[in-house]
Amino acid sequence: MDTSQRKGSGVPMPSSQIPRPSEKYGKDLRLGEGNGHLSSKNDKEKGVNVQVILRCRPLSEEEESLRMPAVISCNEMKKEVLAIQNFGNKQIDKTFVFDKVFGPTSQQIDLFNQSISPIVHEVLEGFNCTIFAYGQTGTGKTYTMEGGKKAKHGEFSSDAGVIPRSVRLIFESLEAQCADYSMKVSFLELYNEEITDLLAPDEFKLSDDKSKKPIALMEDGKGGVFVRGLEEEIVCSASEIYKILDRGSAKRRTAETLLNKQSSRSHSIFSIIIHIKEVTPEGEELIKIGKLNLVDLAGSENISRSGAREGRAREAGEINKSLLTLGRVINALVEHIGHIPYRESKLTRLLRDSLGGKTKTCIIATISPSIQCLEETLSTLDYAHRAKNIKNKPEINQKVTKSAVMKELCSEIDRLKQEVNAAREKNGIYIPRDQFQQEETEKKAIAEKMESMELELESKDKQLIGLQELYDSQQHLSAQLSEKFDNAQKKLKDHENMVVDLEERCQKAKCTIREKEYLIMNLLHSEKGLVEHARALRLELEHAAADISGLCCKIENKDKIEERNKITVQKFQSQLTQQLQNLHKVVLTSAMQQENQLKKIEEDMQSFVSTKAMAATELIAWVEKLKALYGSGIATLDGLAGEIDQNSRVTLGKLYSQMLTNSSSLDECLKSIAWEAENLLKELESSLSNQEVKLNTFAKLQREGNQRTVEATRSISNTTTTFFHSLDVHVSMLNKIMEETQTAQNQQLSELERKLKECAADEEEQLLGKVAEMLASSNARKKKLVQTAVDTLRASAADRTHDLQNEMSNARSFTSFVKEKWELYMEETENHHLQDTVAVENGRCCLEEGLKECMADIKIGSLLWKNAQDSLLSLTKGNVASVESIVRNGMESNQQRRENLSSTTMTAIEHVDVGNKSIQSYMDSKPFIPLFDLSGKPGLKLYMFLN
Ligand code: ADP
Ligand code: MG
Repeated sequence: MDTSQRKGSGVPMPSSQIPRPSEKYGKDLRLGEGNGHLSSKNDKEKGVNVQVILRCRPLSEEEESLRMPAVISCNEMKKEVLAIQNFGNKQIDKTFVFDKVFGPTSQQIDLFNQSISPIVHEVLEGFNCTIFAYGQTGTGKTYTMEGGKKAKHGEFSSDAGVIPRSVRLIFESLEAQCADYSMKVSFLELYNEEITDLLAPDEFKLSDDKSKKPIALMEDGKGGVFVRGLEEEIVCSASEIYKILDRGSAKRRTAETLLNKQSSRSHSIFSIIIHIKEVTPEGEELIKIGKLNLVDLAGSENISRSGAREGRAREAGEINKSLLTLGRVINALVEHIGHIPYRESKLTRLLRDSLGGKTKTCIIATISPSIQCLEETLSTLDYAHRAKNIKNKPEINQKVTKSAVMKELCSEIDRLKQEVNAAREKNGIYIPRDQFQQEETEKKAIAEKMESMELELESKDKQLIGLQELYDSQQHLSAQLSEKFDNAQKKLKDHENMVVDLEERCQKAKCTIREKEYLIMNLLHSEKGLVEHARALRLELEHAAADISGLCCKIENKDKIEERNKITVQKFQSQLTQQLQNLHKVVLTSAMQQENQLKKIEEDMQSFVSTKAMAATELIAWVEKLKALYGSGIATLDGLAGEIDQNSRVTLGKLYSQMLTNSSSLDECLKSIAWEAENLLKELESSLSNQEVKLNTFAKLQREGNQRTVEATRSISNTTTTFFHSLDVHVSMLNKIMEETQTAQNQQLSELERKLKECAADEEEQLLGKVAEMLASSNARKKKLVQTAVDTLRASAADRTHDLQNEMSNARSFTSFVKEKWELYMEETENHHLQDTVAVENGRCCLEEGLKECMADIKIGSLLWKNAQDSLLSLTKGNVASVESIVRNGMESNQQRRENLSSTTMTAIEHVDVGNKSIQSYMDSKPFIPLFDLSGKPGLKLYMFLN
């Protein structure tokens, strides 16, 4: 049976066993982290170095006997280890310092009290602690962890190792505190990358080789791992621990090597889980959980030294896989390399939290003082020394409420109950062993594959993280670039604005320059003007100055000037009178000239008026002439128009009369057609009514035939019912006869029986005496009796048969009667049918005749219609011909008139042309200008002729 099925989902192991801060517990139960541990806060921030203890075992008896020199010296005070190396004559010492050094003489109790008991106390405070034993095979790892030979009755000896001492200390401390607690232990072995539960019950032992069932390591989905289905034993006293250790040790896989007959090639992890109940001041019950992992690692020596060969090579390789990975993890942690290869081995996966996690870790490195092991010892020392630099961040486990634990336990109980039930009722799953093994190997392969995939996933994760970082940085860069770009764009825009501004300003400046230029030009011009002006001004000024100076002079000579003025005035007066006289003369002469000119104009005007009168008379004559000409033309035209009018009137009258005659003839024709149609309709109607009458008679005949059929059917049904009734009566009579026969036969039979009985009784007596004599007579009598009985029976049967035959003949006669009746009815029905058929045939013939008549009528109708159509057509043709002749006549006369009109028009035009020409010539001889409209008539204007 599968252990995983037996144990269900499994019990969590190392790191995952610690109840994590989970939503399911409802509230945050994290209580003061520094609870009794002053340094814890500090530890958490800075990290705490892994504690490394060195232990050197004494030389073994064998080594003593071989007088092997000790090459290791321990200074417990200085916590130093000195390794003495001799290279030829040269001695090279190497010193290593550790947190604690225990020399060959040190006792188990010393090591425990000095180094382990503080760790146990921390476990009781709620920490997770791990103690590793690391070293070459045979250096005392198991001795240190478990202890040497046991004392009797499971009591503690001085050789007791860390595990039993820890258990005892835990019990003692908790008992001293009167605490409410529970303690569970689990013990597993890791060999060849396979996990074996060393505490699993033996019942699952399949064979010697498979006594240790490999079990799977599972991810708990929260970053931790747990061992599925790992057995957890509850320990109630310290002495029990030896039983458990014995059980585990018995299962531990060991193999002979050259170095050590009992060497362990496997890693073992012994875990102690303590649950302690606490009550808060508020009265709430909490569970404090502490865990101590005690790890006994496999020998650290290399493969060649251990002498493993062939089949073992893989084994050693696999053991080394865990150890090598442990070494690599330690290196990575010490050197702070980003990726720590926890996932590469099961050991490191299981102890992940102990290496750089929240667990407090202590490594006990064991060495041998023997020179034989020096190489390995130096490597162990180096390894342990390096491990000192690992920093962990210890954290107290969160306390959980009691109810949460209860809940978990209840669900666990339920699961176990189900398993027990399945086991008891054997309704679990049973499969053949081979299949099971195959499935197991498949499972293992899958698990390995999953592990490798997980590893891959981790590396992919790392890559992803790297890529993510790269992406982030790129994004940051791109953000910076975009910012820069934005800034640049802003600047560009500013610059563009500035350019536009500058252009505007340039334009403005150009404008101002042009203005300035213009102004300058103006100014230049004005300068010239100004210069001239100035010059003029200057001249003026000079003149003025001269004048002023002159005036000044003149003012001086005022009187002289006055006199001179008087003379000038007198001169001017004389000059003025002279000029006035001259002017008078000029005016007189010009008036004379004007008078002469006026006289000339008067004469011209008079001559013009006379010429005008002449021209006017001539013009009037022309006009008169033209008037007469136009009047005659118009009169002719009027006459022509009258003729046309008359002609058209005559033509229209003719047309009208023709139309009238046409319409009357059409009317007549239509009337005749209507009359014919009416006749036809009447005929049709009469034939239809005839048809109706015939149909009615036919229907009547039909109805009568039907009636007859109904009556015949009725009579048949009556006959049939009477037939059935008589049949019924006969049947009942037959029944009665049968019953009578039955009863008579019964009576006869019972009589026969009675007689037989009587006879038997009589004869019984007689038989005794004269059996032989009587037998014959008795037989004869019996025969006779039977014969008579049978005869009577036969007679009665014959009677009955006769009765029956009578009845049968009755029935037969009745049936023949019915048959006759039926035949009669059949004949009648056939006759009726024939009559009906004849009537129907007659009706059909009548209908056919009616139809034929109708057809003839229709033919007549169609003929009539054709006639009507023909007459209509001839009428229309006559109409068209008459209208055409009338129109032709009208057209001809119109043509005549038209010719007359055109000739008249031609002559009129010729006259006008002549008139026009004469006017033209006249006008050509005299120039003229239009003056004004005289007559008010269009086309008549008065012209003023000039020379
Ligand atoms: P390992 O587990 O490292 O292979 P063991 O614990 O089996 O080595 O020790 C090998 C032998 O050495 C045992 O017989 C053990 O009793 C003895 N031994 C180891 N360490 C000591 C010690 N400190 N004192 C006495 N005997 C020791
Ligand atoms: Mg061992």
